[in-house]
Amino acid sequence: MATQHRYSIGIHGGAGNRPTPPAKARLIRESLKTILEEGGARLAAGATALDTVVHCTRLLEDDPLYNAGYGSVPNSAGRFELEACVMEGRTLKAGAVTYVEYIRNPVELARQIMEQTPHVMLAGHGAGDFAATNGIATASQSYFQEGWSKYGKAENNGYGTVGAVARDCAGNLAAATSTGGQKGKRPGRVGDSPLVGAGTYADNAGCAVSCTGWGEDFIRTALAAYLDFLIAHQGLEAHTAARIAIEYLVAKINGNGGFILVDKTGSIATAQSSAYLHCGWIEHGAEPKTARHASLQIARDKR
Ligand code: ASP
Repeated sequence: MATQHRYSIGIHGGAGNRPTPPAKARLIRESLKTILEEGGARLAAGATALDTVVHCTRLLEDDPLYNAGYGSVPNSAGRFELEACVMEGRTLKAGAVTYVEYIRNPVELARQIMEQTPHVMLAGHGAGDFAATNGIATASQSYFQEGWSKYGKAENNGYGTVGAVARDCAGNLAAATSTGGQKGKRPGRVGDSPLVGAGTYADNAGCAVSCTGWGEDFIRTALAAYLDFLIAHQGLEAHTAARIAIEYLVAKINGNGGFILVDKTGSIATAQSSAYLHCGWIEHGAEPKTARHASLQIARDKR
């Protein structure tokens, strides 16, 4: 089947419940489109899904529009603690970082941990020490303060995590997620984004998925792993799996957020229980699309 050999890519710039001011929403849309086009061009030229999701997530981390990397939100002590995860669907290898305060691009560090160590996740000082010996770029807390001041500070929004999922021309899947976490979180709090099976997952037999929203809800439901289970083991197609998973998130714990996934055939699906999900995708090599809402929205009770 011809489409089996085409690439697909999906990215998101976070879920939220408050409307993004129109000027910022426009900038997000343009930014997502530019990054999608770049990711799509790389995949079309034969780049791997892994290289592509890391590259696109890095671009998102460098853009202060999002709550990741440069634009990360501070915790309750006014400090920036960043988290990220990357996963490769062919091998189920994964790398993740949490509680890093001085890493410019946490997704790059997550990849190095995946490739250079026998571990999946490093935290805090240990992650920093590993970064220092592996040539990973650092950044000061004032760098993140500066990035956050550009958009995040004024908007008190608290969402804006980023993620990328891709299927390359060889049929391999990969996913990455990066975040500053919840605004005002307790120091040391770990969210879903760096946790394999909660906020991030990739499995060539199922799907690659990146989640965003209230992280505790995604941890408690292991939502990324559940989506993969529905596709890889229950044989569901992407949109059906997305519907079942978002309904489960809401029915079980009134969960708040959304996700983007690409399945093993290259189909893209998005779903949300939040009011907004900034996202974009290129499906089977077609034209890029961007949206402020997932294709499927399930209502949840406000809390
Ligand atoms: N899921 C992230 C967290 O709870 C936040 C977000 O997606 O905006 O850390």
